[in-house]
Amino acid sequence: MSEEEIAENAEAGLPAGDAADDSADAQINDTDIVFDCPHCGHNLCIDYRGAGLQIKCSECGEDIFVPIPDGMKIDDLDLDPGEILKQLFATRRNLQRAEARAEALEEKLAAVTQQVAALHDSLLANA
Ligand SMILES: [Zn+2]
Repeated sequence: MSEEEIAENAEAGLPAGDAADDSADAQINDTDIVFDCPHCGHNLCIDYRGAGLQIKCSECGEDIFVPIPDGMKIDDLDLDPGEILKQLFATRRNLQRAEARAEALEEKLAAVTQQVAALHDSLLANA
């Protein structure tokens, strides 16, 4: 990719962090990925370089993953450093969320394990 192209992409703000809405002036290119939000069914359209990225639905605001079109290799993506950085941040956010979830589940597991032990004890006491 030439420096000029990179500058152009930066200007256009690609890949869009938010999917374009379907307003009348939204342009759909052949290379765009068009898909429906799995949460609200809103029709979304995003630049092909957004494939595999996590975005927020412009309609319901839910986190969604842009599908990777059949036959498209993620290696084909012509990512510039800015895009890779964006992807890195998104991945890091996901990781943090997953870690928080894992922590909550561990606490739940500990509580359930205690309950099982208590039930076991009371069963033995009643035997
Ligand atoms: Zn949605």
